[in-house]
Amino acid sequence: MRVWSVVGVRPEFVMATPVARELAAGGHDATLVHTGQHHDDALSTVFFEELSLPVPDHSLEVGSASRVEQVAVGVERLVPLLDADDPDVVLVYGDTTSTLIGALAARATGTNLAHVESGLRSGDWRMSEERTRVLVDHVAGLRLAPTPAAVATLEAEGVTEGVRCVGDVRGDAVAMTRTVAAATPETPAEFVLATVHRAETVDDAATLRAVLAGLAGSSRPVVLPLHPRTADRLREHGLYEWAATRLTLVEPTGYPAFLRLLDEATAVATDSGGVQREASYLGTPCVTLRETTEWTGTVERGHNTLAGTDSRSIRSAVDDAVADSGHPADPPTGAAAAIVEAVEAWRPVDREAETPPL
Ligand code: UDP
Repeated sequence: MRVWSVVGVRPEFVMATPVARELAAGGHDATLVHTGQHHDDALSTVFFEELSLPVPDHSLEVGSASRVEQVAVGVERLVPLLDADDPDVVLVYGDTTSTLIGALAARATGTNLAHVESGLRSGDWRMSEERTRVLVDHVAGLRLAPTPAAVATLEAEGVTEGVRCVGDVRGDAVAMTRTVAAATPETPAEFVLATVHRAETVDDAATLRAVLAGLAGSSRPVVLPLHPRTADRLREHGLYEWAATRLTLVEPTGYPAFLRLLDEATAVATDSGGVQREASYLGTPCVTLRETTEWTGTVERGHNTLAGTDSRSIRSAVDDAVADSGHPADPPTGAAAAIVEAVEAWRPVDREAETPPL
């Protein structure tokens, strides 16, 4: 089987790693495409090196232009590559601009499209990630859902064909990476880990200040590995020095180091999707700095609290999470193997029944 995976940002490198290993173990001919959405060392190169992800076969170099331009350039560059190679399937992950590029190019060339992390919904249509999830789920031929709840969500949208519940591939990623040795930045003995990078959290100065003030007001020191986008916004908003005196700002870390920080932290506060899930697998209480989440099960199980972006709710949710002793955790494994099996079992007759190219 010839399988192309399209990735472009840090969480996709994480998810693609266990799948790449399963594809290699199964003797499949795997091709990796890097869209170039994340292209710097801290968010890209280090992940390929530390996770031993194969060097990408193709780089689309979409640059840091607007999202619309990235999609246009990415699709334009990917289409001829797919036309020339005509793979059996294109795999895309999650909900990013790179997911959209891979999906549109696959459908434009009539290539079979499989979507990993299918069926997740936050219900917040303002988020570009939500629009991408819905769009890609509806044009994919094979939807690889991480949970039964995601399958039910697809069903409720009338999507019942080509759906497989395979488990959460981030569980595999956590299980295979948590024991990898890594140097972590120096931290206080007891600390809260935080990450913020979403446009909705960092682009507006008042929202970013409120979120960081809420974190800084909590009872424990907060360690914040700073996403480059957040660092840029802090400077643009004139908040960098203000934040640096209240929080421990550190460089973004590689994945093994981040998992170690997450494991050691008393609690985590984040606007990231993946971190909510990883916290739940490591037993670290999580506060989500958003009004909604696509990982609703983490909230239902009491591992995650939605605090929004109001300073006071954040401070009190973080203090409650610090007081919580966490929960026993063992990352679920086997999703990557189930993904490869599902793609293998996806019969050509089903593929032919797919809609014609866009
Ligand atoms: N992560 C990392 N180093 C960091 C911060 C995050 O390796 O300094 C990892 C984290 O464990 C998770 C992924 O990057 O797997 C999350 O990426 P991000 O928050 O950018 O994206 P999201 O999950 O929100 O799509």
